[in-house]
Amino acid sequence: MRLDRQYLSIKNDILRDIDEVLSSGQVLQSKHVAEIERKVSKLHSTKFGIGVNSGTDALKLSLRACGISAGHKVLTTPLSFIASSSAIISVGASPVFADVSDDMHPDAQKYLEIMHTEKIDALLLVHLYGRLYDYSEVIDEANRLSIPVIEDCAQAFGANSGKRHIGQHVDVACLSFDPMKVMAAYGSAGMILTNSKHIDSKVRKLRYHGRDETREFVEVGDNSQLSSIQASILLTKLKRHSVWTHKRIEIAKRYNEAIKDIGGMRPVEQGNGNHVFHKYVMLVEETKRDELVEYLKKNGIGSAIHYSTPLHKVSFIENKIGKITLPNVEKLCKMTLSLPIYAELTDLEVDHICGSLRRFAG
Ligand SMILES: *Cc1c(COP(=O)(O)O)cnc(C)c1O
Repeated sequence: MRLDRQYLSIKNDILRDIDEVLSSGQVLQSKHVAEIERKVSKLHSTKFGIGVNSGTDALKLSLRACGISAGHKVLTTPLSFIASSSAIISVGASPVFADVSDDMHPDAQKYLEIMHTEKIDALLLVHLYGRLYDYSEVIDEANRLSIPVIEDCAQAFGANSGKRHIGQHVDVACLSFDPMKVMAAYGSAGMILTNSKHIDSKVRKLRYHGRDETREFVEVGDNSQLSSIQASILLTKLKRHSVWTHKRIEIAKRYNEAIKDIGGMRPVEQGNGNHVFHKYVMLVEETKRDELVEYLKKNGIGSAIHYSTPLHKVSFIENKIGKITLPNVEKLCKMTLSLPIYAELTDLEVDHICGSLRRFAG
């Protein structure tokens, strides 16, 4: 991710946005916030959008709005960024983990099995790397059992699964505008999407000290606001969103092409829907992965691992839930590798990355 390169291409607009907000004198709860809420919820075809201070806050406030608190159990994935599970723990609940399939996808059968054998109070379904996974079987069963469903779409801005869009048939979906995400604010920011009037008004209260529409403080809330400067920057970036996404998709195609005939390397399956390639993730033979990281580094290419530690092995989570073994995710965490992917990556740089992967393989 090179926000500096992106900034060069939009500098005049961004400086105008900041100037407009500062000149208006209203830096919180301004019309920019209402406008980005409207536009982002429209883009994802949900009725309501509520801007908050981060994707992590979006998860925490959503859990609270779904009634999750101390002693509750939330079924989720062990393969994600720490926030997916720490949000659950921070509201007092415990994560229950469904291992991923052996090709790194959510395993619907595991979710169903756990929902049928344990008392589960909510589902927190994560969509990784820019792909909206098809969780429809799991969502249908949760709806049948009246278990609330929260989607963590922090990495899936603008994605759809082909069958379903973000927030559809679930209680609430959470977005992140962290600077590392595809819709990147210049600071922390996030949004909650929902079709439920009840959750919309609940979250609006929780994000500002429990204040209701009559400006009375009616419950304990947080202070988690989306700043007007970030909102106005996001409005400008939203206009470029589809062009940038298209560029990332083109880069992903070139990586797919470059590694398709290399033994011991393969892209994580990308599905048929609209994958926005927040990350480009591949699986590398366990014995070669760290060597490849070093080789790329020597050739001036940054790479990253998403994720090196499955969440059930993070110490504070293990302390909460006890020691468990989840074989698929533990193996996959030793194989995963992410390549650079952002719209400003040049053709020459992509050539160099593809060539380096082929040379490494010999
Ligand atoms: C980034 C991320 C979050 C947290 O979003 P922030 O805006 O950084 O708080 C939550 N879940 C996943 C899967 C993420 O990638």
